[in-house]
Amino acid sequence: MGDSQKKCPNCGQWSSWDRNYDDRCDHCGEYLAQEEKRRETVKEEEKLRQEKDWMFRVDPTDNAWIKFWKKAGNLFYVVFMAIMSFIMWVIAALPG
Ligand SMILES: [Zn+2]
Repeated sequence: MGDSQKKCPNCGQWSSWDRNYDDRCDHCGEYLAQEEKRRETVKEEEKLRQEKDWMFRVDPTDNAWIKFWKKAGNLFYVVFMAIMSFIMWVIAALPG
């Protein structure tokens, strides 16, 4: 049992909490850090979504040379997409 306690967001009782997002309330079994857990999940999803937007996934196991080219490729892709969306905007803004 840890020293820290947290008020359960569900039943309002104080429950022992180990600063672990997966700890549940001693009284009702609800997650104690629901809000923190949710925020953590959103952050993870956001990170994943951003990585999916990249052309190449930079793997931590890639060597420096591969990483360099993947990053260069991603940069090129971003610039290319920016130019494309600018052209699309110009076409859309043209009268006619
Ligand atoms: Zn509870």
